[in-house]
Amino acid sequence: MAIRKIRIMGDPVLEKTCKEVKEMTPRTRELISDMFDTMYDGMGVGLAACQVGILKRIVVIDTTGEDPHVLINPVIVETSGEQTGQEGCLSLPGQAGIVTRPNYVKVRAYDENMQEYELEGTELLARAICHECDHLDGIMYVSKVEGSLMDVDAMEDEEK
Ligand code: ZN
Repeated sequence: MAIRKIRIMGDPVLEKTCKEVKEMTPRTRELISDMFDTMYDGMGVGLAACQVGILKRIVVIDTTGEDPHVLINPVIVETSGEQTGQEGCLSLPGQAGIVTRPNYVKVRAYDENMQEYELEGTELLARAICHECDHLDGIMYVSKVEGSLMDVDAMEDEEK
């Protein structure tokens, strides 16, 4: 297992458009495995390859800790409904903001054997799919935040 360094907002790599993956290679398999390790270590529910400095269209998502998905070259093909809620990002630690996303998303992607499949998600999974797919086009959730960013640590203090 290998944990990679997560790039923080302001790093130009997070503003670039990632490139399609054409074939699976041992190197890419290792990247995917490391992305899962890095996401779990950071207690995130999703991670895009650009967040570890690799400009490939690869996303890993696990919203429950027991439901890992890898999405290669993902394309959102259907959305419906709306949800408004708090969102954070491993590339912007300690902060969160309110973002409106579709409540249902269907995404078409390739798995790590480059087999095409579809994944449907609602609520948090739908939010994570949208958030991570945005990363592949260089979009950070902060550009979609309603109001201002909140300091997550300060919010926890207020609850005490
Ligand atoms: Zn993110």
